[in-house]
Amino acid sequence: MSKWSVVHTVTFLQDAYMIKSYLESAGIETLIPDEFTAQVNNFYTTAIGGVRLMVRTEDLESGVALLKEGGYINPENSVTDEEILIVGADSSTDMTCCPFCGSANIGKRNTPGMAMVILYFLLSALFPIFRSANKCFDCGKIWKFKKIRQ
Ligand SMILES: [Zn+2]
Repeated sequence: MSKWSVVHTVTFLQDAYMIKSYLESAGIETLIPDEFTAQVNNFYTTAIGGVRLMVRTEDLESGVALLKEGGYINPENSVTDEEILIVGADSSTDMTCCPFCGSANIGKRNTPGMAMVILYFLLSALFPIFRSANKCFDCGKIWKFKKIRQ
């Protein structure tokens, strides 16, 4: 199975579709994992940190280059090379620090308002895939914890 990386994040689904067709016309396969949430209600996308547009990791470099060329992303913007890693966690795992460098300087990737937090928990109960990722501000890694049953 090939890995997918976030090539760009937009606020509205229609923007994601525009970029999707742009990349696909250049032969790069894309994925919009938040597509259905965004279709249900555009406001949900704020809770899940925008609409993510993903490409295969091997296409990431050319995808980013195309988006810069097309003016979709600022060439100075380096946050587009984010890759979400899945980290196994059991009851002894310390989820308050970075599993890669041990730094406690981590945060959720998005900081939604309280209404969004409630909405987001309701949604994530239905669709666990929408759970947001953690980010380390020291080493820049982004990951999700996956509970391991004991
Ligand atoms: Zn770290």
